Amino acid sequence: MGDPETLRPNERAVDLSPPADATLRFIGTIRTPWRDRKDCPRQGQMAGPECQLVLDPVWHDALAGLEDYDTLEVLYWLDQSRRDLVQQSPKSDGRTFGTFALRSPVRPNPIGTSMVQLVRVENGTVIVRGLDCLDGTPLLDIKPDRCAFSPKAPPKASR
Ligand code: SAM
Repeated sequence: MGDPETLRPNERAVDLSPPADATLRFIGTIRTPWRDRKDCPRQGQMAGPECQLVLDPVWHDALAGLEDYDTLEVLYWLDQSRRDLVQQSPKSDGRTFGTFALRSPVRPNPIGTSMVQLVRVENGTVIVRGLDCLDGTPLLDIKPDRCAFSPKAPPKASR
């Protein structure tokens, strides 16, 4: 997967066997305004444009209750990333960092996460603000914010 031609000074890649251990299931596709990586924000902003999490129909019922939350965590598969760098120089300025000391999309398992603002849920599509990924990025998961104050609905009196 790695292309030695594209390494920056001081970057280092390793030879990897093909991944064979974990199988992820994509649950949908993310629609964003960005078609080219250079146009994506480095990290999403809550004031950013509306983006769509388009769930595969089999998962539509899994959205029940999501509207009770203002903030969601979205996990996605940065499918256009190389996966073999152990050291990276993200700004091409000669400074080199270990992959796990960065939030670079280039990592052995290119999972991206963003905290996003829920705008609305519409026919199996979740509209949010705060993403930073390419149009067509595969969607892995959606979770409510872990903050105790985020649900809009009052807590149930008894469980
Ligand atoms: N917010 C996520 C995180 O912290 O895990 C991702 C951060 S990463 C720095 C965001 C960058 O990944 C974007 O600016 C873009 O350059 C790149 N990117 C976006 N979508 C991608 C995709 N589908 N495959 C590979 N790279 C992508």
